Amino acid sequence: MNPNPMQNWNAEIAQFVEAAHRTAEHGLVRCSSGNLSWRLNDELCLVTATHSWLGKLMPEQVAICRVADGAPVNNVKPSVEAGFHVGVLGSRLDIRVVLHFQSPAATAFACRRDAGTVDYAVIPEIPVYVGPVAVVPYLPPGSAELAQAIVAALAGRNLALLRNHGLVTVGRDLDDALQKASFFELACQILLAAGDQAQALPDSAVRALQNIGHG
Ligand SMILES: [Zn+2]
Repeated sequence: MNPNPMQNWNAEIAQFVEAAHRTAEHGLVRCSSGNLSWRLNDELCLVTATHSWLGKLMPEQVAICRVADGAPVNNVKPSVEAGFHVGVLGSRLDIRVVLHFQSPAATAFACRRDAGTVDYAVIPEIPVYVGPVAVVPYLPPGSAELAQAIVAALAGRNLALLRNHGLVTVGRDLDDALQKASFFELACQILLAAGDQAQALPDSAVRALQNIGHG
């Protein structure tokens, strides 16, 4: 493939904008929180612009960035968190989408001391679509340290809780990432509602469900 930065990506940008709107409609982000990226090809990706609101994202608020270093090629300044988006897109060649979200229940778990030891597999969708999760320590938003920690955490996981910050998930496509985020938010809502009566799926059921894969 020989990507041409001047190629017209309007159709992809329209799909990306629509996915950003749906992310907000699902309650996964609030105002300017959260950001989204989508790899177009080996060299380029779309990233939501800095300070943009996913719920009312406009095509002119979509940065076309180089996967190699996050530099924009279309004069739109990407999110300050573009560093981890391109880091994950560059290292996880099996996925094309990175979604940073801040839904209420999942973010509550990201703020809990026991975030790393909670068993989130309370519904079949967690082992089938999300799998085991990672927990990333608090690091300044937008920092290179946070980007490195997220890239490392997502090397073998599809979702990471960022302590006192939010969540990051990945997907083969836009719907896959949105679905992972929504199912994880649902599991966290269930855990909050069930309190000390919450019961995770048995290990044998989790193993069987993981074999279904991303069906
Ligand atoms: Zn953030």
